[in-house]
Amino acid sequence: MKSPIPDYLRNVLEKARPLEGGEPANYIDVLADADPSRMAVSLCTVDGSVYSVGDDEVEFSIQSISKPFVYALAIQDQGLEAVLEKVGVEPSGDAFNRLSLEAGTNRPMNPMINAGAVATHALIASPNGSVEKRVDRIVQALSRLAGRQLHVDQEVYEAELKDANRNMGIGYMLKAAGMIACDPQDAVRGYIAQCSINVNVRDLAVMAATLGNAGIHPVSGERIIPQESVRQVLSVMATCGMYNSSGEWISNVGIPAKSGVSGGIIGALPGQLGLAVFSPRLDERGNSVRGVAMCKKLSHDMGFHMMDMSQIGRASVRSWTTTIAGGSKMPHACEEQVAVFELRGAVRFAGAERLTRAIMREIRPDEKGREGRPCAVIFSFRHTYSLNDVARRLIHENIHRLAVDTNVVVIDPAGVLKLPEDDPMKPIVAVVQNEAEARDYVGGIGCKIVSTADDI
Ligand code: GLN
Repeated sequence: MKSPIPDYLRNVLEKARPLEGGEPANYIDVLADADPSRMAVSLCTVDGSVYSVGDDEVEFSIQSISKPFVYALAIQDQGLEAVLEKVGVEPSGDAFNRLSLEAGTNRPMNPMINAGAVATHALIASPNGSVEKRVDRIVQALSRLAGRQLHVDQEVYEAELKDANRNMGIGYMLKAAGMIACDPQDAVRGYIAQCSINVNVRDLAVMAATLGNAGIHPVSGERIIPQESVRQVLSVMATCGMYNSSGEWISNVGIPAKSGVSGGIIGALPGQLGLAVFSPRLDERGNSVRGVAMCKKLSHDMGFHMMDMSQIGRASVRSWTTTIAGGSKMPHACEEQVAVFELRGAVRFAGAERLTRAIMREIRPDEKGREGRPCAVIFSFRHTYSLNDVARRLIHENIHRLAVDTNVVVIDPAGVLKLPEDDPMKPIVAVVQNEAEARDYVGGIGCKIVSTADDI
């Protein structure tokens, strides 16, 4: 069976495609030439399943999306206190490239605007180290997060450097204020190289999911960023990540995020997932027009707003196969296999996605491409504490797709599944109270379990 999640992501992409507003960044000539028709969206769960659609292999320079990750690295290299001495955490409400410092402390307002990002960059490795060393450390750290070797795009680097007066101005301002120790031109050169690292949306979704997974890489299981740094980084993303539309973003979309001028945006949803979108045309604040639209839709449809804390708890999925025989509905001596999926806990998207994956794993095509279906599928919600709206919809969708050609039985004594009265599958999905009833429904009275094989 086909997972509904990529189909849904395709729908998100197509809904945003008609938006024609905005222009690719025009102050860096390589970015100005970007193909504006490119679009992609990717989502990575905290346990490492990556979904992506559209131009998901197309690479673009990471630009400002590097800032939260380099901030985490600076905290690792210097400690949070030393970093806070040089860079604040207040939203500025200013454009990203504004030459501004906080009154009183002389620090750049936060690490997400350029002034803060150049100061943060200068803290990587040792404060007096070389540009090469800093850039190399950042490339390696970002590669580890992406799970593959990344590279600086020399063409983007040269293009941005040749027109870097504004960022150079920021460098000199920081030097004069005592916020960087190294040569200001070197700090800006290193910062521009950091912005010129190429990535695609899949890389970014995995990187964001590492933040969403409290610093543990969702695929390798490696601890990459300490949990306290993740909290710091996510807080700054939530308040400053979308520059001067950060307030509107956090109230509408509700996901800690970061955008970049080549048209990417990442979002890291604590405990659930990382997401990334890409489309080069930008609004007047430097955020991707279609990217913002895609994130809004995803957040709205999937219940991703982090302030919507409708439930607390974890879900777990168990699945197994039971062989039954001897029931009145079964010919004598015939044995039949039944797949059982049990969902426990307070279930949100992440739990329903796990269930979806368990179904995919159990009910998959054989070598000839035919789906090897068991004679029935039983869903047990006996230990399901609650389903939120998106979890319920995703499970309904799975049941729809299965019930087309398989017997589906639901054990739901508390009525958590709530198939609507007008659901087209309602008449053919049996709802029972317990496992014995489910077995009798499938195999008939007298039906016995011959064997059970745990599949997880
Ligand atoms: N390299 C870009 C700059 O400094 C990054 C800005 C961004 O992505 N918003 O101007």
